[in-house]
Amino acid sequence: MAATTDAAPPRLTVIGTGYLGATHAICMAVLGFDVLGVEIDQSKVDRLNSGTVPFFEPGLPELLVKALDSGRLRFTTSFAEAAEFGDVHFLCVGTPQQQGSEAADLRYVDAAATELARHLHRRTLVVGKSTVPVGTAARLTELVQRIAPAGDQVELAWNPEFLREGYAVDDTLRPDRLVFGVTSAWAEAQLRAAFAPVIARDTPVVVTDLTTAELVKVAANSFLATKISYINAMAEVCEATGGDVTGLAEALAYDDRIGGRFLRPGLGFGGGCLPKDIRAFAHRAEELGVGQAVAFLREVDGINQRRRARTADLVRELAGGDLTGVRVTALGAAFKPNSDDIRDAPALDVATTLHRLGAHVTVVDPAATDNARRSFPELAYGTDALSAAAGSDVVVLLTEWNEFRLIDPEAMGAVVGRRRIVDGRHALDPVKWRAAGWEYRALGRP
Ligand code: NAD
Repeated sequence: MAATTDAAPPRLTVIGTGYLGATHAICMAVLGFDVLGVEIDQSKVDRLNSGTVPFFEPGLPELLVKALDSGRLRFTTSFAEAAEFGDVHFLCVGTPQQQGSEAADLRYVDAAATELARHLHRRTLVVGKSTVPVGTAARLTELVQRIAPAGDQVELAWNPEFLREGYAVDDTLRPDRLVFGVTSAWAEAQLRAAFAPVIARDTPVVVTDLTTAELVKVAANSFLATKISYINAMAEVCEATGGDVTGLAEALAYDDRIGGRFLRPGLGFGGGCLPKDIRAFAHRAEELGVGQAVAFLREVDGINQRRRARTADLVRELAGGDLTGVRVTALGAAFKPNSDDIRDAPALDVATTLHRLGAHVTVVDPAATDNARRSFPELAYGTDALSAAAGSDVVVLLTEWNEFRLIDPEAMGAVVGRRRIVDGRHALDPVKWRAAGWEYRALGRP
């Protein structure tokens, strides 16, 4: 442990206020820090400054209001102001997949680091939180020190972020662990000061080098993706053999060494992290000559993609083999429940496939409808499950929102045209649905 100091807490900036950055900025202000959020999107700045969280995240709107009321949080588009204000700057901009490549697109990270560095005139710590290919922190160190008027007085650190959308507030205030990739005792002390209230809650801190810190994040996401695709590979085998993957998963989960978390079969993973992170990792490993070590990630990705195709197949099978003119109600659009994030959403992948195959698809989602409509205007959108399902030939559950789990099969049976359902998330009780006269199908179950 580094010695604690009586110095004033560092002033923080958070650059990029999307799902990760807005949450981080708001939570740090609630923990008592003075925080300035920096964002290139003026409309996001305006919304955040007026107390509106621009995306769906349970608990965050209340904390934003609290943080703004405290006077400790505001948002700006000015990097000059950020450099003047901050002692520790967190980089939280996006690192999406590049168009036409599996590599991560680092243009936002580079732009933010460059723009900030131009204004850094004093000793400062720049902390990367975005998920990046290994080697990025070393490259940014060189870039920032070259551009900053303060030169090598500016240090880089990496602090990978593990928050989950839907649980982002709790994951930020009470993370499983903190990882500090640093190159000096000073940088470690700055980070310890910037997370003092979190560390005081007995949060484990792993202090390591920049490279390892970058790798922790992609290694963690690779492991989680592998676990999901592992059970979905078993579902494929069950489909070929007549086994039941839910019984199989349950039996495996009793083994402590395996555990049941992330071992739930279904439509697989999506979102703005796992898919692009495993692809970028495989791509980066190839660049570094160790592609073989993580070649299995391509298989993990392939299994995951096949679940989407197979779900669409199940709907077609249930509809009698041809989807032309078939009315399908798709329950869910977000990549997972409790989020409005539709990046690489399995649900919308399936919905658009069904649409392409000739079905009339109506999508319902408690939070993601506006985002989905903007990206997929060709689909129809309903306001709630029961009204959307009126006259439907097949219902398909694609995102396991709690309100979908709680649907009464009798009530929905009364409005649909045919009682046929594909449970893409193993979220419904087949006994109950079959008892209500539904034809029930799920991946990996007889
Ligand atoms: P996002 O797209 O929601 O947010 C990125 C924000 O950065 C946007 O608001 C964008 O306008 C802003 N931005 C882009 N360029 C900028 C610049 N030059 N200066 C200032 N702001 C700029 O993305 P996200 O989901 O918050 O993810 C951010 C990073 O965090 C990614 O690397 C992601 O992999 C990682 N991450 C995300 C999560 C998550 O659950 N979303 C969890 C862990 C890690």
